Amino acid sequence: MSEENKKLRPVSELGEFGLIKFLTNDIQIRNATTILGIGDDAAVLEYKDKQILAGTDMMTEGVHFDLTYMPLKHLGYKLAVVNFSDIYAMNGMVEQLLVNIGVSNRFTLEALDEFYTGVKLAAERYGVDIVGGDTVSSQKGMILSATVIGSVDKEKLVKRSGAKPNDLMVVSGDLGAAYLGLQILRREQEVFLVNPNHQPDLTPYAYLVERQLKPEARKDVVEWLAKNEIVPTSMIDISDGLSSEVIHITEASGYGAYIYEDKIPVHPETEAVAKEFNLNPLIAALNGGEDYELLFTIDQKDYEKIKNVPGFSIIGHITEDEGAYLITGLNEKLELKAQGWNAFLERKKAKDKPDDTSKTS
Ligand code: ADP
Ligand code: MG
Repeated sequence: MSEENKKLRPVSELGEFGLIKFLTNDIQIRNATTILGIGDDAAVLEYKDKQILAGTDMMTEGVHFDLTYMPLKHLGYKLAVVNFSDIYAMNGMVEQLLVNIGVSNRFTLEALDEFYTGVKLAAERYGVDIVGGDTVSSQKGMILSATVIGSVDKEKLVKRSGAKPNDLMVVSGDLGAAYLGLQILRREQEVFLVNPNHQPDLTPYAYLVERQLKPEARKDVVEWLAKNEIVPTSMIDISDGLSSEVIHITEASGYGAYIYEDKIPVHPETEAVAKEFNLNPLIAALNGGEDYELLFTIDQKDYEKIKNVPGFSIIGHITEDEGAYLITGLNEKLELKAQGWNAFLERKKAKDKPDDTSKTS
C-alpha cells in the first residue's frame, strides 16, 4: 500500500504546461483532414467537399459520473465515445476530438494518466485524432467536456427532422442495459459502504456493467448503412432513453409514431436483472438512457434490405397524426413521455433506493 502511495504524484508537480505534455506527448495524427494538431494556439483542419459536423458533450462529477464506481480509464473512454455518438447520429464519420479537463488537486498525475489513456484508446479504436483541448484546475470535483468534429457528404446528411409518414422506425442493438448496469454498480456501492471488505462478484452482470462503464458508439451502423445504400430519413442517438428520442424525431419531423412493445429489443440479461430489481425492463428501455444505440427511420423501399439483419429491430412506424405512442402487448395505446432530463433527477433519487419505480408514472 505505502509502496503504491509513494509512486503517486500530485498534479501540481508538473504545472499546466508540463501536465499537457505529460498527457498528450504520445498522440499521433491519423487523418488527412488534420493538418496541425496539439501544440499551437489552434488546430488546423482541411475538409474538402464535405459538410462539417461539430458537437460537444460535457460531464460533471457527481451528476454524470461517480468516481467511486467509475474507473478513470473507462471515464475517458466514455467521454470520447458519447461525443462520437453524436456525429454518427448525423450519419457522419468522426475525425477530430478536443478534450477539456477541469480537475482539483485531489487528482494525481497517475489518475489523469489513467483517464487520458481511456480517451486515447477510444480515439485509436474509432480512428479519431486528438487535436487539442484545455486543461484547468477546479476547486472541487472533475469537470470534463469534449468537442468532436467530423464530416458527411451533403446528400448523406441525416437530421432528426426528415421522417415521413409510413417510414419504418429502426433501432440498433438492445436497450435498457446501461441503466440496469448503473443499478448494479450502485447496489454494490451501498454494500461496500456497509462492509468495505466486501469483494463484489460482477461476473454474472458483465454485459450490463460494461454497457454502463464502457459504452460503444455505433460507427459500424453508419458504415453498414453506407454499404447497403440506405440513407435514413431521420436519425438520433439514444442517450436519454427510447421514449424521448422517438419524441425528438416526431416533433422535429412534424409527425407522430407508433412503436410496439414486443418489438423493443431487450437483452436477456437486462430482462433477468430487471426482475431482480423489481423493475419493468420495458421501462429501462424507454427511460433508462445511456445506451448510445442509434434510432433511425427509413423509407419503406429499404425494408427488404434490413428486415432480417441481426442487430436491427424494426420497432414501429411514423404516422401522419402527431403524438408518439407505445402499443403494448395487450394492444393498449399509451402516449410516450419524454423522461430524458427528469430521468436524471430520478436516477439521483434512485441512489437511495435502487428499485425506485416512480419514474414509470
Ligand atoms: P492556450 O494558452 O492557448 O489555451 P494551452 O497552453 O492551454 O494553450 O494549450 C497548449 C496546447 O495544448 C494547445 O494546442 C491545446 O489545444 C493543447 N491542449 C491543452 N489541454 C489539452 C488537453 N486536455 N487535451 C489535448 N490537448 C490539450
Ligand atoms: Mg488553455
